[in-house]
Amino acid sequence: MAQLFYVETLGCPKNQVDSDKLVGTLLADGMSATDDPGTADLVVVNTCAFIDVARKESIDTILALDEQRKVGGRLVVTGCMAERYGDELAEALPEVDQVAGFGVPVNLITKSAGKRSIALSTAIPTLDLLNLPRPKSAGPWAYVKIAEGCDRTCGFCAIPTFRGPQRSRDISSILDEVDQLQVQEIVLVAQDLASYGKDRPGELGAGAIVPLVKAVSARVAWTRLLYLYPSDLSDPLIDAICSTGVPYFDLSLQHVSKSLLRRMRRWGDGDRFLRRIGDIRDREPAAAFRSNFIVGYPGETEKDHDQLLAFVEAAQLDWCGFFAFSPEDGTYATGLDGVVATSLINDRLAELREMQDVITASRRDDLIGTTARVLIDNPAEARSTREAPEIDGIIEVPAHMAVGQFHDVRIVDAMGPDLVAESL
Ligand code: SF4
Repeated sequence: MAQLFYVETLGCPKNQVDSDKLVGTLLADGMSATDDPGTADLVVVNTCAFIDVARKESIDTILALDEQRKVGGRLVVTGCMAERYGDELAEALPEVDQVAGFGVPVNLITKSAGKRSIALSTAIPTLDLLNLPRPKSAGPWAYVKIAEGCDRTCGFCAIPTFRGPQRSRDISSILDEVDQLQVQEIVLVAQDLASYGKDRPGELGAGAIVPLVKAVSARVAWTRLLYLYPSDLSDPLIDAICSTGVPYFDLSLQHVSKSLLRRMRRWGDGDRFLRRIGDIRDREPAAAFRSNFIVGYPGETEKDHDQLLAFVEAAQLDWCGFFAFSPEDGTYATGLDGVVATSLINDRLAELREMQDVITASRRDDLIGTTARVLIDNPAEARSTREAPEIDGIIEVPAHMAVGQFHDVRIVDAMGPDLVAESL
């Protein structure tokens, strides 16, 4: 009988892609998947190390799966925590049979014996899961990772220290993966999506995201892009996104105060962002916007916070995430003065979230009475182009609508971030 494996995935969409590729490789090795960690011969935890809370969730998950695994089942920890804290993690968790960063050949995960750490926190991954095979998607949409790593130096972010510099994939390999997945919607992800190709001047080069988006959208009904650094949102890229039929703009803004953004070692300011958003709305009135902001970065003053509040009010974005600054080992921000008290961060977060909840609800209310084409993700649950999977609200639809298909609906009600629709 085939050996069984169980994979638990924590963290962001990029981690889900890595897990899919791990699953593809384990299946190709002759193993079979199970939903029950208690029966698995191999239990893999794909961890997230982004902030404190994520690290705690990763450790709790590892310990819980250790309890559940059968006698003789091997427990392997991979993902960002393994890459970032490989040796420490191996020391601290004797329960774990192996700590393996993604910078190593995957077959070591399945074939090496004994407990050892093969990830070095300072090492640049030499082999990624990027180009490995992947099983056909279980749902009507899938993430596709187009590059790994990041060449920027944002003050709060540790990702470049353990995911390494950017390595863009070949367009042909990305398109092969898109074909394999057989889905209606592809969600392109990377640490810094619009920088795709910059690390390969000559072969791909800056701006390579534009032909890539066009090529992907020629193969699937919907192509969606996540994580756009604002300085790279060029006119050709905006045109390419609009021409996919999914005018959804996920802008990675992080703040709007110019002085604070410079302390974050990032580009831009609120006025520029507002102008760009206005340009896009002029070109495509139906465009939907999402952004994320960090609250309480060292040195964030009341004035900076007020600027952010004013921006949120003026921009009227459909979706916004606000996250408390978390000091990360090895980042520029950990050495900065002006630490903001946790209680003040929480107050600011609450104020921003309250304001955005009202804006999101009002933008959803505005859609009542309109029609939309939706993709049915699950029975009675759909999305239009305005909602990214797993991140934004959903649309409740009649249960008879076939999963995996597009339907035309009329929006009849809104409940906070979610909508209710009926057949046209
Ligand atoms: S763009 Fe900045 S925040 Fe995003 S992964 Fe790169 S360094 Fe981190």
